[in-house]
Amino acid sequence: MKIKAPVSKNEQLDVSIMDLTYQGMGVAKVNDFPLFIENALPGEELTIQVTKVAKNYGFARAISWKSESPDRVKDVDKTYRQTGIAPLQHLAYPAQLKFKQHQIAELFNKAHQDVEVAPTLGMANPTQYRNKAQVPVRMIKGQLETGFYRQHSHDLIPLTDFYIQDPAIDAAIIKVRDLLRQFEIPAYNEISDKGVLRNIMVRRGYYSHEMMIVLISRTQKIPSQAQLVDQIHKALPEVTSIVLNVNAKKTNVIMGNVTRVLYGKPTIEDTLMGLTFAISARSFYQVNPQQTEKLYQMAIDKAGLTGEETVIDAYCGIGTISLALAKHAKQVYGVDIVPEAIEDAKVNAQKNHLTNVDFFVDKAEDQMIQWQAAGIKPDVVVVDPPRKGLAETLIESTAKMGPKKIVYVSCNPATLVRDVQLFQDRGYVIDGPIQPVDQFPQTPHVESVTVLVKK
Ligand code: SAH
Repeated sequence: MKIKAPVSKNEQLDVSIMDLTYQGMGVAKVNDFPLFIENALPGEELTIQVTKVAKNYGFARAISWKSESPDRVKDVDKTYRQTGIAPLQHLAYPAQLKFKQHQIAELFNKAHQDVEVAPTLGMANPTQYRNKAQVPVRMIKGQLETGFYRQHSHDLIPLTDFYIQDPAIDAAIIKVRDLLRQFEIPAYNEISDKGVLRNIMVRRGYYSHEMMIVLISRTQKIPSQAQLVDQIHKALPEVTSIVLNVNAKKTNVIMGNVTRVLYGKPTIEDTLMGLTFAISARSFYQVNPQQTEKLYQMAIDKAGLTGEETVIDAYCGIGTISLALAKHAKQVYGVDIVPEAIEDAKVNAQKNHLTNVDFFVDKAEDQMIQWQAAGIKPDVVVVDPPRKGLAETLIESTAKMGPKKIVYVSCNPATLVRDVQLFQDRGYVIDGPIQPVDQFPQTPHVESVTVLVKK
């Protein structure tokens, strides 16, 4: 039976906002039919105009407000919402922290799980926190521009202040942009699949202030490459590494498979938890160093190590959690799918004189099966997977190895809930409150630490 939507495109109507989605959009319901509205907060009453009607939901835009939420704050710049850089900029920071706590609690409630979620650990200054930027480069009216895409599009909005990034990174992007203009290097054109420079990636050590610039190019070489590189490091004294990444494919994936060092070292160094880490262009490294230290400390405390334990760190990246745990454990094993990350991890173990850690390149789900087959008996397993969460085979082999404790660092509460249930089916229970840590202020992303123990 085909049910007709109770609203039609372009229709204007008055609604009350009842909820906020993971994407940070307000939700209103018209005869149970949900409408998603950007820049609308729970409790607000407003006039909206319907912009899109799908089968079971629609989108609308806010036109005017009849009442505003007490948690609403003035926009810093509406561009930050349009680009998705800061979709929650209009929500007061304490309310953002409550929203994140509530998101986790609600997902567990929907799954009929009674869990305690602690208040989200926030930042004293929830802006300018990112240690990494990845910006697209495009031609606009014949001039090379850097900025960010309008959400759900590839229209570049030129930007110079990215609000949530380290201001030294913003300044570096402007410098590189000006040099690209000066050397008349053409930006990549997605439609014709021509042009040269696609993206600029910048990483800066929070403590070390070492900076890496990655130029992502469609072509094997950039015109005036040597002069450009020379000018970049002269203009930016913090730069200790300039890397070319070649991505010749017509794709939305940012980096290609070939990286070449054009200046300095292939890595930058930074410290975290008093340990030194080398980080290469292709390796994952947490983007909010101040909060990462809180997150890792939490994971270490919750692991409750005495120095006698065998620990597995699955999805270990460059070994940050592994090495922080190695100081308190007998033996640590780490696994990650990215070969460069594991190379970094091995170097990082040596740099920090930690000899009780072994790193492996593999899919975590496959490596776990091998460890289980080899008879490894971990006391604690730490998992820190990407948004899609854990493979069921990994949960299966982990449960078979029977660790006393599993510390689950999650960046997506939806997959966390799913995976926790799969662990519960295999004899594990949640221990203590789930702890959200705000790694991404001004955005709806929710990071948390959950401990599971064997019943
Ligand atoms: N714990 C690290 C990294 C967490 S990010 C840190 O805090 O820095 C998630 C990591 O999972 C990334 O390093 C990514 O390369 C890795 N990854 C993604 N899919 C994987 C898989 N199937 N098996 C192993 N590692 C994977």
